[in-house]
Amino acid sequence: MLPIVKVRMPERTDLMPVLEDVLYGGMLAEGEQVYAFERRFAAQFGLRDVLGFSSGTGALHVALLSCGVEPGDEVVTTSMTAEPTNTTIIQVGAVPVFADVDPANGNLDPGAVDATITERTRAIVVVHYAGYPAPLTALREIADRRGVALIEDCAHALGARDGGVPVGTVGDAAIFSFQAIKHMTTVDGGALVLRDPSRLRDARKLRWFGMEKGVPRTEVDIARAGYKYNMTNVAATIGLSQLDSIDAAIARHIDNGRFFDRELAGIPGLSVASVAPGAEPSYWIYTLLSDDSDNVERRLAEIGVAASKLHRPNHFHSVFAPYRTPLPGLDAFYRRLVHIPCGWWVGDADRERIVTALRKG
Ligand SMILES: *Cc1c(COP(=O)(O)O)cnc(C)c1O
Repeated sequence: MLPIVKVRMPERTDLMPVLEDVLYGGMLAEGEQVYAFERRFAAQFGLRDVLGFSSGTGALHVALLSCGVEPGDEVVTTSMTAEPTNTTIIQVGAVPVFADVDPANGNLDPGAVDATITERTRAIVVVHYAGYPAPLTALREIADRRGVALIEDCAHALGARDGGVPVGTVGDAAIFSFQAIKHMTTVDGGALVLRDPSRLRDARKLRWFGMEKGVPRTEVDIARAGYKYNMTNVAATIGLSQLDSIDAAIARHIDNGRFFDRELAGIPGLSVASVAPGAEPSYWIYTLLSDDSDNVERRLAEIGVAASKLHRPNHFHSVFAPYRTPLPGLDAFYRRLVHIPCGWWVGDADRERIVTALRKG
């Protein structure tokens, strides 16, 4: 089966020597490799200040705290995402308020976001779902006008751009994930991007129990309890090796995504996810919409290609039951949704036979 998601590791001959060096080098925890990874990741993806984390979830938790989200605050968010987008909101004691999505691509609808904001709203969390940039210009304008923070969950969207700028540069905070099946993996890992450099010091402390690195352990003072979210030198070494080859892998996601955009549009009963003007998706997974998504899954299974909805709208989970609200746009999107593979492992012959199978109907 051609999978929808796949772990990508650098070539053994590139990774193993540096990995062996770090594993037997006596410095496993956060150190030089982590700081080198933070600098190179920022430079390569056009970001300013990046902090390495043990996971995207940890980065998202600290993003919420860095933006001043407190227990009882409302956070406007999307249900059409992976669960950590919203479990972290509950984790800080805040209230997730689900705004509806655009049925054409699953991303937050700015009008719905604006209508959902109240005086208790502290932040908007936006996900670039499946790697398709959400309407950042409109969301930034809403956040500024309503006086709330904008947090970008870029876990699906490494390498995507919107309005000529990389995702992760518009929000007050942004996170990336290096979990096993994302564009780029460090086994597990994440990155936090903060727009306001004056927030970096506190975020670093929250990443490591509440302590400042570099201050002698006998003198350091914890004023606010933090977490154990630091990236390790081992993860960072894998990350540095990934950065040597990730651009080509992302370029292949994009090439396959654009191929499907061209070739699958106009097939009766099918539509491709809409890409807003100025948006440049990085197509982590390809979003297809079909009047009969089960049939698409069956037809592709017959030719050995996996296809599925992949995610469960978060409000379906009982933990989010208290926050359920009518989401007609999401319902329409989810009913028609079927993700198909479009990553670096999808070759020319694979994508051709996918198109041929779908044309047959
Ligand atoms: C993967 C993911 C995360 C969290 O990342 P981890 O690194 O697995 O903790 C957050 N949001 C979305 C949308 C994700 O897909």
